[in-house]
Amino acid sequence: MHHFGFEPLGLPVEDVARITAEVKIRDNGWPGCPYHLIVGDDERLALCQDYRTASYHVSGHNHEAIGCAIEGDYTHKEVRQRLSEIVGLAYLEACQAKRNACGKAGIRYEALIPAGHLELSPTLCPGAGGMLVVRQLRA
Ligand SMILES: [Zn+2]
Repeated sequence: MHHFGFEPLGLPVEDVARITAEVKIRDNGWPGCPYHLIVGDDERLALCQDYRTASYHVSGHNHEAIGCAIEGDYTHKEVRQRLSEIVGLAYLEACQAKRNACGKAGIRYEALIPAGHLELSPTLCPGAGGMLVVRQLRA
């Protein structure tokens, strides 16, 4: 789980996803959007990467972690209920995609473990508000 760490752009989530990819390609030399999913402040979800893609969102864990980012700065602010619900739905969808992939490959399925970026790398992301959402997913 990530947050953007700055206030929402006031754009549809598809534009937020496109701009995020453009900035990371230009400034970091990354191949695309770092997050698999973005929960927009417009209360919509964008799928930005195939779940099987090892995108650049959490150093040292990009091969096993699916990255979901909430647009906005939740360093000291709670994520509003509707956005939190969308994160929950995204989590269930990602688990289902993994279950399907494991079934096709004939390997044992284990549920994805919700985690905040700060639990995997030295960062403040996704803020106190984002971590509340992570704890709700684990409950
Ligand atoms: Zn992050």
